[in-house]
Amino acid sequence: MSRLVVVSNRVPVQEKKGAASAGGLAVALEAALEKRGGIWMGWSGRINEEGEPGPLSIEQRGNITYALTDLTSKDVDEYYFGFANRMLWPICHYRLDLAEYGRTEMAGYFRVNRFFAHRLAPLIKPDDIIWVHDYHLIPLAAELRRMGIKNKIGFFLHIPWPPADVLFAMPVHEEIMRGLAAYDLVGFQTDHDLENFAGCLRREEMGDMIDEGRFIAGERTFRGGAYPIAIETAAFAEFARRAGSHSMVLKAQQSIEDRSLIIGVDRLDYSKGITQRIDAFEHFVTNNPAHQRKVTYLQITPKSRSEVPEYEAMQRMVAEQAGRVNGALGTVDWVPIRYINRSVSRPVLAGLYRLAKVGLVTPLRDGMNLVAKEYVAAQDPDDPGVLVLSRFAGAARELNGALLVNPYDIVGTSNALARGLNMPLDERRDRWRRMMNHLLEHDVSRWCDDFLGDLAA
Ligand code: UDP
Repeated sequence: MSRLVVVSNRVPVQEKKGAASAGGLAVALEAALEKRGGIWMGWSGRINEEGEPGPLSIEQRGNITYALTDLTSKDVDEYYFGFANRMLWPICHYRLDLAEYGRTEMAGYFRVNRFFAHRLAPLIKPDDIIWVHDYHLIPLAAELRRMGIKNKIGFFLHIPWPPADVLFAMPVHEEIMRGLAAYDLVGFQTDHDLENFAGCLRREEMGDMIDEGRFIAGERTFRGGAYPIAIETAAFAEFARRAGSHSMVLKAQQSIEDRSLIIGVDRLDYSKGITQRIDAFEHFVTNNPAHQRKVTYLQITPKSRSEVPEYEAMQRMVAEQAGRVNGALGTVDWVPIRYINRSVSRPVLAGLYRLAKVGLVTPLRDGMNLVAKEYVAAQDPDDPGVLVLSRFAGAARELNGALLVNPYDIVGTSNALARGLNMPLDERRDRWRRMMNHLLEHDVSRWCDDFLGDLAA
């Protein structure tokens, strides 16, 4: 079996293998690396202003070598905050209005990818297979190819891929598409993202899908496929089962009393539809007097990317909105929305998901949305809650037991919330069982094996 080299912007170096705090992706990639032996390379998260880059910091844990590089603050500003998070992120989430076109940032993005390639190349052996993750590193394979690297290189995009008219608003879209064509296998979250990618190649007359999953672009042929990312379903369900004795979960349970809990969990990001969701909740409470004082909506929203102005604005907006709704609807003994602007550990989240009668997951656009899958995995099989899910989350392609909503339609989401809270037990069990069976069969280790199997084939 070939050695595996994983490259991602950030590298989750865990204190303990499979630690409960680690996300499913980290656990699955760690397991694949441990089995085959390999390297995980990425940015250390540290800024180093020295002119010449220092040596890679190397840490060996079991069969895995973590190889981390520092970046300068100019690199981080241009490559990470500038191009990746203010251009690629909004464009791939269909937000042309929020994209910031800066030539310096674009140049910085390609420069840092070249830098990564130069640092990585000396570590690569001829038989290694290389797996690059996410939108920060699209041009990496093209840079490695330029240096003569012939290894199999795969890429997985964790975020959506937009249709041609959206992508083409980005001045360097051709270079980005050529960057993807330098891989041997390009993985997307859903068949829709894959179709969009094929459409982009066709529209620009750069290439086409020649048959199921095989692409041609210029001189190169490569493969593309949909590999919906998953969670460690069984392990997460077990967390949730045991979380009932966790003191934070117990406190939450006591303070909710006999009200029905509705839960939302999202990084503070404009793609998550948080403000539309609060509007929908307000509409629901206002129009369903029987539920007034009988529900609690818990929204857990850790801050993210606060250095980016659009996120800073969003943070103010959500806090104000939650405060306004509580002021308008709350009573001396009832706070309708509990808004937590910090992150919560995964074991506690698992317990909170299980307490909630409704998981409200309504992104305006999301590559997959793991919260939706975690919410399902965490439910009590005897008395499961209901998932209300945006049709624009990748997860909606798989979770056919959810109540699908259009997150822009406030009244529609409010109605789904009412339907979820009133749903009879039989229907809840039936819907949950369908989703849970799917998640048990398609967990993250299978996702990892499927992608690596196809890349190696
Ligand atoms: N998460 C967490 N603590 C929090 C909020 C979220 O550990 O306070 C985790 C959550 O369990 C999930 C991930 O962060 O695994 C979010 O993944 P998702 O795909 O839903 O969204 P992303 O943040 O990647 O856009």
